[in-house]
Amino acid sequence: MDCLFCGVAAGEVPATVVHETDRTLAFRDIAPKAPTHVLVIPRDHHRDIGTLMADDPALAEDLFAAATAVAAQEGVVEAGYRLVVNTGPDGGQTVDHVHVHVLGGRPFTWPPG
Ligand code: 5GP
Ligand code: ZN
Repeated sequence: MDCLFCGVAAGEVPATVVHETDRTLAFRDIAPKAPTHVLVIPRDHHRDIGTLMADDPALAEDLFAAATAVAAQEGVVEAGYRLVVNTGPDGGQTVDHVHVHVLGGRPFTWPPG
């Protein structure tokens, strides 16, 4: 399978890793949309949040635990931050390996564009 984030998890695609657990990996987005922009992925391949929840809900819990740990590590908890899980074409998902965006360091508007 040709998957960019499986490549990151395998260490074959270089990335700036900021947090690791046995089942998750977090690294800086290559095109950051905010001062803090980290992507958190499961090491195992799952296409999106729906298939992850269906196939391994405990891993979804690990993913969000890692995302909140990254927010704390990045020092954005007090000011606030945003977790985003783009899903499918209308959701703006461009990499089909589920990932949580951890965005912080500036205010965000709601609703998104
Ligand atoms: P999506 O649009 O699927 O929710 O988010 C994919 C994210 O992956 C985008 O924010 C994009 O900037 C980021 N991205 C794409 N290619 C790479 C890469 O090779 N390395 C890293 N670190 N991020 C990437
Ligand atoms: Zn993958």
